[in-house]
Amino acid sequence: MNTRELHRKAMELFESGLLARRQGDDSRRLILLTEALKLESSAADRVAKLHSLEPTRSILHRSSASLAMQIGDTQTAMRYVELGLQGAPPDEIKKELTKLYEQATILEALRTDYQLKAPLGLTPIQKVIRKCTAETPVNIVGLANDLLLTVRQEDLGTDSGEIVRDIDRGGFSGYCIVVNVTHPRVRKRFTAAHEVAHFLLHRDRITNRLRDDKMYRSSLGTTKEREANQLAADILMPRRAIAQFRTAGLQSPEELAAKFQVSAQAMRLRLGIKDISK
Ligand SMILES: [Zn+2]
Repeated sequence: MNTRELHRKAMELFESGLLARRQGDDSRRLILLTEALKLESSAADRVAKLHSLEPTRSILHRSSASLAMQIGDTQTAMRYVELGLQGAPPDEIKKELTKLYEQATILEALRTDYQLKAPLGLTPIQKVIRKCTAETPVNIVGLANDLLLTVRQEDLGTDSGEIVRDIDRGGFSGYCIVVNVTHPRVRKRFTAAHEVAHFLLHRDRITNRLRDDKMYRSSLGTTKEREANQLAADILMPRRAIAQFRTAGLQSPEELAAKFQVSAQAMRLRLGIKDISK
């Protein structure tokens, strides 16, 4: 097969893989995408030395890297990004290649150090959290996306939210966060942060679905729920940012809550003020 035929066949297999994914047949999806990657990467290999063959060269490297990510092969993904960047990719593709490399780094880190412990300095996961929490209010959906999670809204009755293993809609991590669409915005933000926390701290305990009721209680038990609430608060209301706003004159819990887009009750709790409404 020539390069063009390899690519065409790879894309056919990719399409079939998408179909299998939609049908929930994960083992068939894996087989098809693995086969697609084999063909697409040999197409990329064939043009690897042809640096003037752009954008074909970088497109083939990008789609090889992307296919590798979809089957969780981070090493192969990184290799094809690096090879792709050695050519002269157009800006747009260069950006996409760089993004894929970052995502591969995160996916790899999620497998090894998701318990947030690092011997020295910040782990890649902590770096993502640090970057995403540098702005107030924190872009919680952006943070979830950077951790390779997707977020969607559904009517969950009286429950707050859930985290679900979802190969079709879950992003590269394979997990999707669902927040209750009927809840107020600040509540939805807290729920999303709480589910991100479960993902980071308790992923080994999530089989297919972890559902939180309206009081953020789940099958994990009180200790784990407290850990998730704590990390959610750390994410949405970083202490250093609160200190900065207080120094700048913002004192009342209500003002701070509005700044951080959290409920006044959550902010009072964060500030150590007893909630007198209860
Ligand atoms: Zn929970």
